[in-house]
Amino acid sequence: MYIETLLIHAGHRVDPATAAVRPAIHLSTTFERQPDGEYPQGYIYTRLDNPNRQDLEQAMTVLEGGAAAIAFASGTAATQALLQSLKPGDHVLVADDVYHGTRQLLETLFIPWGLQATFCDLTDLSQVELSLQLNTRLVWLETPSNPMLKVVDIRRVAELAHQVNAVCVCDSTWATPVLQRPLEQGADWVVHASTKYLGGHSDVLGGVAIARAADQVYQRVRQLQITAGAVPSAFDCWLVLRGIRTLGCRMQMHCQNAQEIASFLCQHPAVEAVHYPGLASHPGHEIARQQMSQFGGMLSFQVKGDQRQAMAVAAAVKLFTRATSLGGVESLIEHRASIEGDRSRTPVNLLRLSIGLENAQDLIADLSQALVQVR
Ligand SMILES: *Cc1c(COP(=O)(O)O)cnc(C)c1O
Repeated sequence: MYIETLLIHAGHRVDPATAAVRPAIHLSTTFERQPDGEYPQGYIYTRLDNPNRQDLEQAMTVLEGGAAAIAFASGTAATQALLQSLKPGDHVLVADDVYHGTRQLLETLFIPWGLQATFCDLTDLSQVELSLQLNTRLVWLETPSNPMLKVVDIRRVAELAHQVNAVCVCDSTWATPVLQRPLEQGADWVVHASTKYLGGHSDVLGGVAIARAADQVYQRVRQLQITAGAVPSAFDCWLVLRGIRTLGCRMQMHCQNAQEIASFLCQHPAVEAVHYPGLASHPGHEIARQQMSQFGGMLSFQVKGDQRQAMAVAAAVKLFTRATSLGGVESLIEHRASIEGDRSRTPVNLLRLSIGLENAQDLIADLSQALVQVR
């Protein structure tokens, strides 16, 4: 079936107890044991499993075409579990522009714990080959990436990872399963911050890791989920699954709006550069065309000038909200360099946009009046 249909039906069941068409939220932390000691429904205690969590995991398994999915309390908790499935002394190869929280996890927790990590530009395959080691157990890529919208060739990087028997993980948060299915491209795991497009309304935190095979790594990550306990609440699972039901039409409009805004910014005299994989001039455009069905709702641009001009534009918008995060119905604008701090490599004149579901003409009018500040 097509993805639009799967988005509506994956992980869905009419409640057998009430015939309710939409799922109930099961807040109960504990489940009754039968006189014979059995649990015929399979639920014992909600950290171990919960009906709403199971629905969400089933839906994500289907949507990514995997063997199983494991839901977490945040995208970062999913990342943590995957990294913790490794052993001290193992080496990981990580995109140098990886989500800053993933870098922070490595630098503050996992490198002190004993993981070795190399950060490299995964769009440069010769760098990838040079950076792989015999003890490389995991390659972590993210595409499209933050904030330059770099596009990594999932198939090629997965092939290189497999040459040293490393697991290839793709953080596909920005693309969602509507635009990109990394397991079909050769990745072994897909990770999503469901906080973003899957939830889609900026009101729930969550993460999901989807495995291509129910292998040993999968068993270990499942064990980390239920033993370490960074599980999402029943209500959060219900909210994410509710978001997933409308993901198809939301992504359609996010993409359409972003493409229109990218075109507008490209021809604006106060704009120095626009980073959007849907532009033919973008260095990752060809690979994006091959591995994505559309180009997403995220873009960034550099204004002519320095930090002062960029901040002036961000200060002048009226419809965009100045906030971090992405993937909600409302459009957001963010000056990344100042939020990333001293070690940021993001150009100081760069603004990142999460394009929402407003009418594109209103968004363009807002940017247009704000860009007057640059001249
Ligand atoms: C937000 C985000 C994360 C982390 O998700 P949280 O739910 O905030 O922990 C990971 N990767 C990407 C690409 C993100 O945008």
